[in-house]
Amino acid sequence: MESSAPDALAYDRSHLWHPYASPLNPPPVFLAERAHDTQIVLADGTELTDAVSSWWCVAHGHNHPHITKAIQRQSEALSHVMFGGFTHRPAIELARRIAQLTPEGLDSIFFADSGSISVEVATKMAVQYQYALGYPNRNRLLALRGGYHGDTAGAMALSDPDGMHKLFAGLIPRHFFADAPTQCPLRSEWNESAFDSIRTTLEAHRDEIAAVICEPVFQAANAMWFYHPNYLRRMRELCDEHGILLIFDEIAAGFYRTGPLWAHARSGISPDIICIGKALTGGHLTLAATATSHRIAKTISNGFPGAFMHGPTYMANPLACAAGIASLDLFAGSDYTASVRRIEQQLQTGLAPLRSLPNVTAVRVLGAVGIVEVASPPRAEDVRSVILDHGIWLRPFGNFIYTMPPLVTPPETIGKIIAAIADAAALPPGPPVPADGFHE
Ligand SMILES: *Cc1c(COP(=O)(O)O)cnc(C)c1O
Repeated sequence: MESSAPDALAYDRSHLWHPYASPLNPPPVFLAERAHDTQIVLADGTELTDAVSSWWCVAHGHNHPHITKAIQRQSEALSHVMFGGFTHRPAIELARRIAQLTPEGLDSIFFADSGSISVEVATKMAVQYQYALGYPNRNRLLALRGGYHGDTAGAMALSDPDGMHKLFAGLIPRHFFADAPTQCPLRSEWNESAFDSIRTTLEAHRDEIAAVICEPVFQAANAMWFYHPNYLRRMRELCDEHGILLIFDEIAAGFYRTGPLWAHARSGISPDIICIGKALTGGHLTLAATATSHRIAKTISNGFPGAFMHGPTYMANPLACAAGIASLDLFAGSDYTASVRRIEQQLQTGLAPLRSLPNVTAVRVLGAVGIVEVASPPRAEDVRSVILDHGIWLRPFGNFIYTMPPLVTPPETIGKIIAAIADAAALPPGPPVPADGFHE
């Protein structure tokens, strides 16, 4: 028997941990029962519009029938089989499709269970590659301040060092960090000196660095910042000069979120390794992938121990792969660049007037990403009540009130999201938050 909604929520409150929350004094949560299109349906029948694509993965809308049917069909034939010693058609077909989408030559694909794991895999690939070439000391990475690459220890270690590094100092590996690309905003004239910090850091530690990693063009979960694609071109030159690999984490920005299929397409260059995830299955099952070149795969294989040392239990889960294929069908079946451009124009027009609000310091829009930065955040309860009045679900963090709606969100719904953000941004600042606060 299903428990009543209040009983279920009471159990949740005392037994379940939620993301970035206290297990003892958790913030309120909604009991979601169903979802469709842009809507999440709660136990009491209330519908909320998901203006953040459930953490940026629900690209085609919730419970898309093409994807749910693919999962159902696959579950009747083969829900899972170990990927050591076996392969299966969903993995093969999805890899084939991914290889057609990733930059030229990145057609050697490792399936990971989540974005964080795909970053861990990319890191290990880079280290094993350098090891095989006779550079065992090249076992650290160079990352950017303001970046975010996931919550597992290895991925957290590459994320902004002002975040959780202090708390987990004893646990996480030490990497090198260059200044955040704040001095070279997108859509401004390229500022060469913005690249000084990364160049200096890389040149000082070139014998210890296996790879450089960044979120191309769009630093998402930590900084909500768009930067100049020339930065990526310079990175490519610098890495080539020193035999250091370049890793692009397209987990948030990929699959048309910023306009083109990949955010880095604006730069005209390609990385050596790319991480993709989030919208890969359209937000239906967890799956990510790390893709690299045949050359790098071969170098790794030729080195000690002649194998790549990673193998998760659920690697290339067939249900997740089937969802991935169906999601890529949908991406191929209509013009997402055009629908994202439509969302971008509407967000630009709709959010621009918020610049004149007293607490608003900046408004930034790129693709289906609309960010309102405030000087100090309003109280979470106030934001919550204002957005719920509009039937909109948003999850602001730090000084950012933002939307990253499903890429298929119709104009009328985007209009409602803009209205909710406008009301939230007009709220008075709340009490100061501790400077040491984490990003969520
Ligand atoms: C979300 C995210 C990750 C981590 O992905 P998970 O699936 O949450 O582990 C890594 N990199 C970027 C850029 C992300 O936005």
